Amino acid sequence: MRKKIVAGNWKMHKNAEETEDLLNDLIDKLPNDVEAQIIVAPTFVNLASAVDHLEFTNIAVAAQNMHQTEAGAFTGEISADMLKSIGVNTVIIGHSERRAYFNETDAILANKVSTALKHDMVVIFCFGEELKDRQDNQHFNVVENQLRDGLFHIENKDWELIVLAYEPVWAIGTGETASPEQAQEMHEFIRETVRKRYGNTIAEDVSILYGGSVKPENAGEIFSKPDVDGGLIGGAALKAEDFSKIVSAI
Ligand code: PEP
Repeated sequence: MRKKIVAGNWKMHKNAEETEDLLNDLIDKLPNDVEAQIIVAPTFVNLASAVDHLEFTNIAVAAQNMHQTEAGAFTGEISADMLKSIGVNTVIIGHSERRAYFNETDAILANKVSTALKHDMVVIFCFGEELKDRQDNQHFNVVENQLRDGLFHIENKDWELIVLAYEPVWAIGTGETASPEQAQEMHEFIRETVRKRYGNTIAEDVSILYGGSVKPENAGEIFSKPDVDGGLIGGAALKAEDFSKIVSAI
């Protein structure tokens, strides 16, 4: 059976002290009895302290990115081995901000996925259409291509490490959310696309998260849809109270 997951992407927010404060706040406020897996993704420099801080909790730590190469002359980059060596076993790959501002193509992302899987890391694979794609009625094609080119090279056995995160770019950080019906329609399409390529068991078992302006006020309705298995949360993950309410809505 697939897992419910709520993950917070902190992006380039929170220095060391603020990271500790937010983690303490989350430990205080997050519900203990929830069945969802909870994940937070602070910045690279605060990952090690987050892992230490959350050691005896049910909150996992993810990186927001990693390099596709094992090691080498890539100034400023971070490898899978480095992440694993500090206890980070989950990585977000393909966030739309990485695709748009750092030129991460489907081919690069496919490499990143392979490297992460080689290191037994859980991959939260993000994808989603831009506003223009939806206006042109191309959103299903765009999503299908992103899945095919960035992810569908993996083997059946790798799927136990994959979490999908559908994030329509027009809904990220904009306050504009996909309606619960739009989210369900796309999640159902994504599951069907996985089913066609990898079969029923993998399609039914993979968790598909929705991301894009999820807030305490809309989380319940979005999460109630049958193919929405949780959320990837940006802005609202930076406030413990909001994030806790979203987790409680699952
Ligand atoms: C995100 O960046 O993954 C995201 C979903 O952001 P927000 O919740 O702020 O729209």
